[in-house]
This record gives sequence, C-alpha cells and structure tokens, in this order.
Amino acid sequence: MDNCIFCKIVEKQIPATILYEDDELMAFNDINPAAPVHFLIIPKKHLSSLADAKAEDAVLLGKMLELAPKLAAQQGCAYIEHADGSKSGGFKTVVNTGPNGGQIVYHLHMHVIGGAKL
Ligand code: 5GP
Repeated sequence: MDNCIFCKIVEKQIPATILYEDDELMAFNDINPAAPVHFLIIPKKHLSSLADAKAEDAVLLGKMLELAPKLAAQQGCAYIEHADGSKSGGFKTVVNTGPNGGQIVYHLHMHVIGGAKL
C-alpha cells in the first residue's frame, strides 16, 4: 500500500533490522525500542489494524502469535518453566488498535518486548 511505512519495509524500500521473514510474515526491530528487546511482527499483507482482520486471516494471526515466543527466545527472552515449578524469562506482546489503543502505524503489527522486568 502506498505511503505505508511497514509496506515499504516489506518491499525493502526502507531499511530495518530484519529478524525473520517468510512468504507471509516479517519481524524487525522497533526503531524506538521500549526495552532491551523490542521487535515487531507484521503480516506482509497490508491490514490496517487488528480491526481490519477477517475470518480468512485467522491462520495468519495464529502464525504471528506462534512466531512470537520463538523469536523472543532467539533474542534471549525465552519463557522457561523450571523442573521445580519456578518460572523465569518471558516477554510482553501488545497489539495497539486505533487512536485510543495508541496505534501510530496503520499496518497491523504485534510488539514483542522483553529483556527487562516489565
Ligand atoms: P504503534 O503505536 O503503532 O503500535 O507502534 C508503532 C511502532 O513502530 C513504534 O514502536 C515505532 O517506534 C515503530 N516504528 C515507526 N516507524 C518505524 C520505522 O520506520 N522502522 C521501524 N523499525 N520501526 C518503526
């Protein structure tokens, strides 16, 4: 889509630190990180927000959610359940939707934030 900054990242028209890419998804570091680890997972297909997603996008949304813990682990934020029952690590996932949700970039994206106690 014209004038969409994340579409331009998908098209490699503007640079980003890309952590993952396949036919449907891309993940790249947030340009203004809120924590030591902060990346965004986006569908390559332009959906303006979560509210723009249809039933046919359910598998795509599921793939975004499934990718989050894998990439978070690669970035040093694995969530671990220890044998003694204790837990460590982990990360936050956020999808801002619309003005009241704090959405600034209108191409659906999931924030994955970690590397610190949030
Ligand atoms: P939102 O508030 O829409 O959920 O968050 C948009 C995020 O995109 C922000 O955290 C912002 O720092 C990030 N962002 C905006 N423009 C760019 C850009 O050109 N490159 C990258 N890598 N991140 C961006």
